[in-house]
Amino acid sequence: MNCLICNAETKYYFSKKYTEPPFDHFMKDIGEVFYYQCPFCGFTISKTHCDLDEQRWEKLNFDFHHYLETRSDNETEINQPPYIQQAIMLKILAENEIINLSNSVDYGGGYGTLSILLKKYFDQSISVYDPFMQKEDNGIYLTKEELKKHPTVFNSGLFEHLTTRASFDEINDCVSDDGCMVIHTRISGYIPKDPDWFYLNPPVHCAFHTNKSMEILMEQWGYISSIYCLTGRCWVLLKRENVDVKSKIDLINKELQANYLTYKKGFVDFWKEY
Ligand SMILES: [Zn+2]
Repeated sequence: MNCLICNAETKYYFSKKYTEPPFDHFMKDIGEVFYYQCPFCGFTISKTHCDLDEQRWEKLNFDFHHYLETRSDNETEINQPPYIQQAIMLKILAENEIINLSNSVDYGGGYGTLSILLKKYFDQSISVYDPFMQKEDNGIYLTKEELKKHPTVFNSGLFEHLTTRASFDEINDCVSDDGCMVIHTRISGYIPKDPDWFYLNPPVHCAFHTNKSMEILMEQWGYISSIYCLTGRCWVLLKRENVDVKSKIDLINKELQANYLTYKKGFVDFWKEY
């Protein structure tokens, strides 16, 4: 199969068998997982997940999310996104006019946790789009038809679940021409050839970016610069800089007396190894 990012031909990298409960049970119909890596950009993907039919993929996601909701704490090494830190980060960036949160959307936002926190603690509204979640009509959800162009498109814990280029592009298609995309996923220097790597632990993780693959993707999509926030574990990709972003970031870091945000033209390659 060809790389979803740069189209080079991928090569078999390694395989993994899920042997520990409950994931051995979730994966028993699917079996061994085969990961393929792009020799050019390092993007790594599970061919096994890409080849699943829709019904099986949905059942796996359903089983896994049900498990997350019902497990006891600290049962496995699976962390939820740092939602409150992400809310603080978005608010700081918006206050400093680096991003615009009006008419913004949390794409694949699940139960709407980020949106609820932003409203409760910062009186900031953000819509949620999620095609797979059962939702109450509490006014925060957008339908697919209501999803248009938005100045800020946030996504958390989504990129590692995607199996087609079209599904990456659908997210970017929602960003306005002078907007930004905020991404929470793991992006590192390289993907270790290790079936026991912690990030493979959730059996729904199937797509793994490197700094190089994200640099290529953001350029293809027309983003010019990026910001990384360590506490929020997020990258903010900017299509335009309506203010002097570098000076603003320097001021924020001075104000907070911390290296809170890291800015770079192109992609912030914050994690050099894995
Ligand atoms: Zn590639």
